[in-house]
Amino acid sequence: MKTIAVLTSGGDAPGMNAAVRAVVRTACKNGIKVYGVIRGYNGLINGDFIEMDLRSVSDIINRGGTILYSARSVEFATEEGMRKAIRTCQEWGIEGVVVIGGDGSFRGARDLSERGIPCVGIPGTIDNDIACCDYTIGYDTCLNTIMEMVDRLRDTSESHDRCTVVEVMGRRAGYLALNAGIAVGATAILIPEIPFDIEKHVIERMESTQRTGKKHFIIIVAEGVNVDVHELAKEIEARTGVESRSMTLGHVQRGGYATVKDRVMATRMGNYAVKLLMDNIGNRVVAAQKEEVVDYDIFEALNMSKSIDLELYDIAHEVSI
Ligand code: ATP
Repeated sequence: MKTIAVLTSGGDAPGMNAAVRAVVRTACKNGIKVYGVIRGYNGLINGDFIEMDLRSVSDIINRGGTILYSARSVEFATEEGMRKAIRTCQEWGIEGVVVIGGDGSFRGARDLSERGIPCVGIPGTIDNDIACCDYTIGYDTCLNTIMEMVDRLRDTSESHDRCTVVEVMGRRAGYLALNAGIAVGATAILIPEIPFDIEKHVIERMESTQRTGKKHFIIIVAEGVNVDVHELAKEIEARTGVESRSMTLGHVQRGGYATVKDRVMATRMGNYAVKLLMDNIGNRVVAAQKEEVVDYDIFEALNMSKSIDLELYDIAHEVSI
């Protein structure tokens, strides 16, 4: 391949820039022209490209967000949008595309691959909800951000003998809530994979710790749990007598400097993706499995499923007593 493109798509995630940098530098080093596509698949449709060189990715490894901007492109998911994107790729001589995003973005990459533009997906999403991967770029930074924020909330919660209910991201998966919940010593962790029961999962757990002298509580709730955290806090206060507050962490979870793990893995994955395209291998998803970087057929990857570690969930509650 002589010319490739790289784009970031879906929700932004810290570490995407490190992946873009690795893609661009690996391509340049190997004599491949590389275009940065602006605003995900929208840029691919409209030919919104920047030719990248070694220096266009200087000083970005430390930055959160994505210098290529990201988007959710409704048009790309239509037949007409897809056709336009393919025409644009052909006009610009783009022979392969590296797509950094979540599984929605991989579906787009699969469709493009099927129509003759080889794509390689790199998992970039804070949710860690991509089935073929143990880990996704941005997840580690996001966990650390949640931990830092909740540590701060804990200080004030402790000073006032309060219960603080914190909603974290994770619409379809509880990985962030479960691991962050363990890291902050939450009394209860509510995740979408476990049907919510306020009595069993919150009140009983709080009361059992109260009996041994605990006076302040952190409850972590994944966004995907069907509960309004503000109402939950009111109900907890009414039923336990403990003054309760609620907080939705929101978009603060997406930003910030990427952690070492996210920068290193993003660099490895970006390099790996370009090496695949250099060998004329497309239609793949780069994945992290037990710290190793591997790749899967994109169709196979999208059909895989992954389940939350229920043993970890049990351990979390066994030690928050
Ligand atoms: P995140 O996990 O952060 O939400 P994501 O990649 O899953 O990231 P989506 O919004 O689901 O985010 O998808 C990103 C883009 O991928 C969509 O805006 C759309 O352009 C494209 N896309 C999603 N699903 C499909 C599909 N079935 N066919 C073609 N394109 C798709």
